[in-house]
Amino acid sequence: MPVNARRVHHGGMAAISETLVPDRRLPRFEWALVDGSFRHVDDARISVHAHALSYGTGTFEGLRATWNEMAQELYLLEPSAHYERMHRSAKALGLTLPYATEELVALTIELLRRNEVRSDVYVRPLLLLAGEVLAVRMHEVETRFSIAVSPFPARYVDPAGVHCLVSSWRRSPDSTIPLRAKIIGSYVGPALAKTEAVRAGFDEALLLTVDGSLAEATTSNVFIRRGDAWVTPGVDQDILEGITRREAIELIGEELGEAVVERSVDRSELYVCDEALLCGTAVGIVPLVAVDRRPVGHGAPGERTQHLIDALAAIARRDTDRHLDWTTPVWR
Ligand code: PMP
Repeated sequence: MPVNARRVHHGGMAAISETLVPDRRLPRFEWALVDGSFRHVDDARISVHAHALSYGTGTFEGLRATWNEMAQELYLLEPSAHYERMHRSAKALGLTLPYATEELVALTIELLRRNEVRSDVYVRPLLLLAGEVLAVRMHEVETRFSIAVSPFPARYVDPAGVHCLVSSWRRSPDSTIPLRAKIIGSYVGPALAKTEAVRAGFDEALLLTVDGSLAEATTSNVFIRRGDAWVTPGVDQDILEGITRREAIELIGEELGEAVVERSVDRSELYVCDEALLCGTAVGIVPLVAVDRRPVGHGAPGERTQHLIDALAAIARRDTDRHLDWTTPVWR
């Protein structure tokens, strides 16, 4: 059987037939951390009755580790910042993580070593309400904590730049769901927005707040440049407070000597800005080259954005002495 295929059994009283279907499961590494022990990922299962499956109750993080072939070393990017945010996400839900931040970083390193990771990977910690409870509530439901590892998609976004649609779906406000938390259920709106955008021929969706100003893209924050100033929606604009957003603010100052203003951004500013970018753990920094079919600037990646992309990539791979404190080696 091809590696990328699996057999599917078609049930029935009399006949069980098998069909070979392409395996669309996520390629992943063998070992996961589940409830305190390292297990084969196929043994890391949860019940169809798990609370989180019906109600989206739980929180997750997404970390990135980058392989440096020359140094033969794997570097986690800002693992403490991600786990600290996960602690805050859990707190917002009235939950607690079973480990302190330093323990979570150490467990992640141990997991990457057990999986013998020598390539770019994505690390997915997950705190789920996993108890079999048929009641919509947060209290008195058993939680489960896991960390899994998957290969980083080779080309997650087109480095030549993304074309965005301003979605008809709005970002749900903090008054409906805590936005400083990465809550599983809160990704349904962004998922609808992404599909709307892709089906209409765009790469990505931008979500506005219910008041109509820019919030963010589906899984990344947005920066625009107007003249000498960069602008990004402030933390009061229903955004996730991205770790890459914070890095981008620092790098714009250090690398470009330019300032970033945090304020509300009107939709039409997207149409008239000189340069724009998206940033997040999965996308890194990527040029935003068109919005609603209007070219951003000249419709090509901006020089400054390219500079920031290179600077962050070098820091993530430790190809530079700058911001060594942002990366943690796994093998050393
Ligand atoms: N907004 C949303 C909704 C996200 O899911 C993400 C990805 N975590 C981001 C922004 C970017 O955050 P970060 O840079 O911390 O990955």
